[in-house]
Amino acid sequence: MKIITGDKVKILIGKDKGRVSEVIKTFPKKRTVLVKGLNIYKKHVKATKNQAGGIVEKERAYTISKVALVCPNCQKTIRVSYLIDRAGEKNRYCRKCKTPIISSKIKS
Ligand SMILES: [Zn+2]
Repeated sequence: MKIITGDKVKILIGKDKGRVSEVIKTFPKKRTVLVKGLNIYKKHVKATKNQAGGIVEKERAYTISKVALVCPNCQKTIRVSYLIDRAGEKNRYCRKCKTPIISSKIKS
């Protein structure tokens, strides 16, 4: 996937449209991502031996087409491009500021 855990993304639709937050989990098979603190829903939880019951807030995953990656360098939302470096590694790259998006080597 073009978006991985730790990326900053901007939400393109829904009640949190325009907000920027960090990806905390990705689901490549479903092509969805969980974004920290956004798209929250409340879930009722029954009490168990180990935990009190009540309402917990959880993030609902976004389809990746509904979020845009934010370049950590220029802070703009970008379309991801790839650049292969001399070692043959495939890295994501921002076309706007010509900078590799570092925390984000693609494992192929
Ligand atoms: Zn950039």
